[in-house]
Amino acid sequence: MTFGFNFETTYKNLSSHFFTETLPEKSSNPEIVLFNERLSDSLGLDKEALNSEGGAGVFSGNEVIGETPLAMAYAGHQFGQFTMLGDGRALLLGEHMHHGERYDVQLKGSGRTDYSRAGDGRAPLGPMLREYIISEAMHALGVPTTRSLAVTLTGDSIMREQPLKSAVLTRVASSHLRAGTFQYAVIESEEALKELTDYAIERHYPDFADKENKYELFLEAVIHAQSYLIAKWQSIGFIHGVMNTDNMAISGETIDYGPCAFIDHYDPATVFSSIDVQGRYQFRNQPGIAQWNLAKFAETLIPLLDEDQDQAIEIAQKKLNNYKDLYQTYWLTNMVNKLGIATPEESDVELVLEFLEILEKEALDHTSTFRALSLGHDSDIEVEDQETFDAWVKKWHTALENKEQSAEDASTLMKNINPAVIPRNHLVEEALFYAVKTDDLTKVEKLVEIFKDPYSDEHDEYYKRPPKEEEMIQNTFCGT
Ligand code: AMP
Ligand code: MG
Repeated sequence: MTFGFNFETTYKNLSSHFFTETLPEKSSNPEIVLFNERLSDSLGLDKEALNSEGGAGVFSGNEVIGETPLAMAYAGHQFGQFTMLGDGRALLLGEHMHHGERYDVQLKGSGRTDYSRAGDGRAPLGPMLREYIISEAMHALGVPTTRSLAVTLTGDSIMREQPLKSAVLTRVASSHLRAGTFQYAVIESEEALKELTDYAIERHYPDFADKENKYELFLEAVIHAQSYLIAKWQSIGFIHGVMNTDNMAISGETIDYGPCAFIDHYDPATVFSSIDVQGRYQFRNQPGIAQWNLAKFAETLIPLLDEDQDQAIEIAQKKLNNYKDLYQTYWLTNMVNKLGIATPEESDVELVLEFLEILEKEALDHTSTFRALSLGHDSDIEVEDQETFDAWVKKWHTALENKEQSAEDASTLMKNINPAVIPRNHLVEEALFYAVKTDDLTKVEKLVEIFKDPYSDEHDEYYKRPPKEEEMIQNTFCGT
């Protein structure tokens, strides 16, 4: 039985030091608790067969279909410190081909590998449900991301601060190549670096393969994809929480949902992650950190960019210098779209910055305030400094009137970019707590359902409103 999987795993063609073939650990009593029918359909999989006992066998790793899975080797800068890493608790089942597209299908939490170090290779149920909820919401919000196909309980418990149920997440990604994979390769040898880079180009940018300056084009494309991604994050108030170079996919997809969270009231200094004690990955730092990560990535490519090292450094520097402008352009487009303006002009920057200043000073909720503007409910927004707010609204309305677009277009644009619901921390934490405590996933399922359509106003008030003071979540945990 193949369940519709059509594996053709090219990663295995790389030199053997890039991965280790590993069998998943057995699970005593696998049970699928979340299954993504839509994603299964879009991948051409057999959803009936998968969402059953047979599928639980596959998703837990008990039944290996196709070739032996593999753990990938990689390195990375974690909170600025360089470390050798690798898939310590994940295995690539295979690369699934569908309509000419290639998708990595990976099990996360499937047991120990050669890269596990002191870890047990397992994952607790809560964080795997969390990744499922948030990654799928991000997809619905139009943000490039890895996807979640299933969460499967193993039937076994693992030891953390207390015994916890373990689960496996089945993750789908356009690839699991990270900046850290290149950091690993360059340490191995220049030959390894070339091998990996040619592989990445063939996989993500086949059009570059026969170009003379293919490595330069590749670097440029990765920088481009990251600037697009981070601008999306900033526009919806998403904080990744662990922007280490091993958690930066070269595809430009958001990867590794650990202590990530969404901002409620707008504060650029927001940090949620319990492990980010210095605030390195606070909201306002994300664009700069992405640039730092890209610089680390670009450094790895230097031996390929030109035979002359000085020349190569110059090329890398030039490409990196473009990041700021690219990011700024994407950011501004997103932000003016949120205000109903289709195409930004330089003068619109001020309008956006002034609004963000009001959001910050008034500690207004990021999501619901933009939604209120989209619905024409400006007068419902409660502020202390009414005068400043009214002056801004007037300026905004004038700006809108001066654009060559109808009021209706502006309204449609806003309603389709400013979500009514997002995975707010208090909602996610409540649903996870309930699921883990009572084995009842109805609250989790409800969240998954409502985030499929984040731009609908039809959801209950409960899901739309910002948290009350006592519901505010200060910390989110990696939960590995
Ligand atoms: P992350 O912070 O999830 O990106 O993980 C960083 C590194 O730690 C990766 O190499 C993971 O594979 C590894 N890791 C995380 N949790 C575990 C675990 N429970 N067992 C083994 N390795 C782990
Ligand atoms: Mg990671």
